[in-house]
Amino acid sequence: MTAKSAAAAARATVYGYPRQGQHRELKKAVEGYWKGRVTAAALRETAAGLRRSNWGQLADAGVHEVPTGDFSYYDHVLDTSVMVGAVPARHRAAVAADALDGYFAMARGTQDVAPLEMTKWFDTNYHYLVPELGPDTVFTADSAQQVAQLKEALALGLSARPVLVGPVTYLLLAKPAPGVAAGFEPLTLLDRLLPVYAEVLADLRAAGAEWTQLDEPALAEDRTPAELNAAARAYRDLGGRTDRPKLLVASYFDRLGEALPVLAKAPVEGLALDFTDAAAANLEDLAAVGGLPGKRLVAGVVNGRNIWINDFEKSLATLATLLGLAGQVDVAASCSLLHVPLDAAAERDIEPEILRWLAFARQKTAEIVTLAQGLARGTGAIAEEIAANRAALASRTVSAITRDPAVRARAAAVTDADGHRSLPYAERAGAQRARLGLPLLPTTTIGSFPQTDELRAARADLRTGRIGADGYEERIRAEIGEVVSFQEKAGLDVLVHGEPERNDMVQYFAEQLTGYVATRSGWVQSYGTRYVRPPVLAGDISRPEPMTVRWTSYAQSLTDRPVKGMLTGPVTMLAWSFVRDDQPLGDTARQVALALRDEVNDLEASGTSVIQVDEPALRETLPLRAADRAAYLAWATESFRLTTGGVRPDTQIHTHMCYAEFGDIVQAIDDLDADVISLEAARSHMQVARELAAHGYPREAGPGVYDIHSPRVPSAEEAAELLRTGLRAIPAERLWVNPDCGLKTRGWPETRASLENLVAAARTVRGEL
Ligand code: GLN
Ligand code: ZN
Repeated sequence: MTAKSAAAAARATVYGYPRQGQHRELKKAVEGYWKGRVTAAALRETAAGLRRSNWGQLADAGVHEVPTGDFSYYDHVLDTSVMVGAVPARHRAAVAADALDGYFAMARGTQDVAPLEMTKWFDTNYHYLVPELGPDTVFTADSAQQVAQLKEALALGLSARPVLVGPVTYLLLAKPAPGVAAGFEPLTLLDRLLPVYAEVLADLRAAGAEWTQLDEPALAEDRTPAELNAAARAYRDLGGRTDRPKLLVASYFDRLGEALPVLAKAPVEGLALDFTDAAAANLEDLAAVGGLPGKRLVAGVVNGRNIWINDFEKSLATLATLLGLAGQVDVAASCSLLHVPLDAAAERDIEPEILRWLAFARQKTAEIVTLAQGLARGTGAIAEEIAANRAALASRTVSAITRDPAVRARAAAVTDADGHRSLPYAERAGAQRARLGLPLLPTTTIGSFPQTDELRAARADLRTGRIGADGYEERIRAEIGEVVSFQEKAGLDVLVHGEPERNDMVQYFAEQLTGYVATRSGWVQSYGTRYVRPPVLAGDISRPEPMTVRWTSYAQSLTDRPVKGMLTGPVTMLAWSFVRDDQPLGDTARQVALALRDEVNDLEASGTSVIQVDEPALRETLPLRAADRAAYLAWATESFRLTTGGVRPDTQIHTHMCYAEFGDIVQAIDDLDADVISLEAARSHMQVARELAAHGYPREAGPGVYDIHSPRVPSAEEAAELLRTGLRAIPAERLWVNPDCGLKTRGWPETRASLENLVAAARTVRGEL
């Protein structure tokens, strides 16, 4: 095909669409089913209705080929485990008794069996259920769900393409099942898995699929030669079979790199590539391998995971270049639209000026269709859309929201000294010891205390006007009073105010910072039936007034013990928001850091001697490719130091991260120059303490001795044993005693008992020193 006919055939498609419905109907139906209020039949009907409505929206917008199989009751990786028969032994009885209940048992566990582990889907905030595999795993094909959904779409007269998690990615995302030796590599099961995929593909073909998409985002990560060989083998095998639909192998979230030549050479009919952000290099790489002559290329030029409007002229230029590189070029979003909210038009509170810069799933779909039209019929056919797009982008460039001269001048004036405490840690430590007068093995918590129904009701009452600001303030103060008096009685050394005023650790600050906007129904699936509404970091960031000082000062006024100030760090403020894409992330982080620095300095000025800046997202924002990590860590650590660099040597800066595996960022953690870090450690038996020690981490650390992810109360002896383990790696002068994370999801009874045991453990072990 010539470039011209490749253009004429250009079509619009997407890989997946938000599942929940405009009013989160899916969440309500699934949770209702769990509670026994919704029957299985009603749940299935709701789900089928949502699929029909999604396909209808896509088709009405002009999408030529709709995805099927992207819908899920809980998670599409779990659906893949079901499709290949990888049901863990402990769930088999439940699945055999009732497929739907067994499915939810794998997702959530039951009284008697643990669920599958959950972890983040690449560098997004979506979480999937980790397949558990072992040398004894027997795969069997179960294509029922994929086939049924395909038939539903075909019955509506639509052109449809099933979307599956690819076999290589599936295995690379898996982990050894419990009881299987840790060295077991699931990828060794590839030869066993491929015939099962072949069977599913044959079933889809028989059900009417012309094309099927196999998603291989794991190939956009750094892969070993052996893994790349496995990918080559997988697609030689599947491609070599005759009883199958045409195959479209998709990747996203980063450039394919060394995997691109592998897939370009594979005997499949098409590739879907991401051309946004870090993946933009796919364009050059594709040219370098000679393109995909005679094949289908689906070009992900619309960012599928952020919420800003596309730059049409830039995308059209990319598409024009691609025309010369493939037999057919179609237009798509870079990844499934699962990662963005459904419809920006539903946002009533966002100023029109900002709203015209936003594109959620519905708006992105329209953009994809417009770009496909421009490609097929020439840019003249979409001249009006291009003009409107150019005007919206231009308005963003000159807006006072995105360009605050004061914020910019301040960011430009930052010096190296601003990012450094006035004395090195070794000298600060003594000053802090003298000021704080803490015992060895000081006890503290991570910040939040239980978020009770009363607190949620108080916030709702404030929103609906049932109580005024004063009434709300009173309720929060009462809660702080109780939290402080409990901590004093329990014998904790460094207290917190308990964060009762915070709905969410990012949203709370976003609501108070200029430059952020909140959405009303911008829900995005985090996992299962849990949805989050990330705030939109739209403009230049500044802090009109202090955000936390009055709560911390109030708590401090109630006690002689130090009360720790509590803030969310700049990296996490970016990671859990939709961040502006019109300037480098590092520039945005610097603005947020300066706003937070004011808060840190105000806390210090009001007498706060210990300030914690949480960065639980530091590691999850790590770029997928190792080559991009140094640049990220440079701005990430700089923004943390800028936040905390303005305080006196005797003010103690804490940070907190909630994960147990941080081996690849230990140097970055050191570079934060915090005085104390608390980390998750209870489940991994203080592994982090050993890793910190191995690195030669010179500062104070509190590896968690209480697993807050479970309602279980750890005994004092258990916590003491963990402390003794910790002491083998970290000397007593630098070891803190704390839980793994905040207590907001816990109830009061277990919180009380656990913290009392934690203090008892610290006392016991102090006595042994
Ligand atoms: N300070 C926060 C809390 O205790 C930290 C939460 C987190 O690490 N995710 O809730
Ligand atoms: Zn945490």
